[in-house]
Amino acid sequence: MWKISTIKKLRAFALLAAVALTLAGCGSPKPDAPAEVRLDGQVCSGGSISPKSDDSLRVYITLDGAALIDLPFGEAHRVTVTQANGAENEIELTGEAVRMEHANCENQDCVNMGAVTRENLELRVMGGFIICLPHKLSVEVRDS
Ligand SMILES: [Zn+2]
Repeated sequence: MWKISTIKKLRAFALLAAVALTLAGCGSPKPDAPAEVRLDGQVCSGGSISPKSDDSLRVYITLDGAALIDLPFGEAHRVTVTQANGAENEIELTGEAVRMEHANCENQDCVNMGAVTRENLELRVMGGFIICLPHKLSVEVRDS
């Protein structure tokens, strides 16, 4: 059994982590946003997450050409993009790879494009891109 003080410390830590995430750019969503963006399950305004990361390799997610969110390649995150028409894409960053974990598009091409890693970035036919054409959503891994 955990002591109450340990639980209190954990709660304080969780609160600090939530504040840190907010400072990193994950504030309340813009009312005119083209889609709802969730970062690790939390509704997010998008933008640049951890912009001062040492890692120059970043993951850029855009919808119909408009920037939604960008994150350091080396951090583990889950980004969910839900459009008003019900189109949904879930992008997983493990810290070593980025892939389309799930999408409700009809062709599933994006899911079948596999993962982008540091090693295959230059070798893939699509380079650093994972694209969901039906949803006009693109994920690009490139240097900042
Ligand atoms: Zn797709």
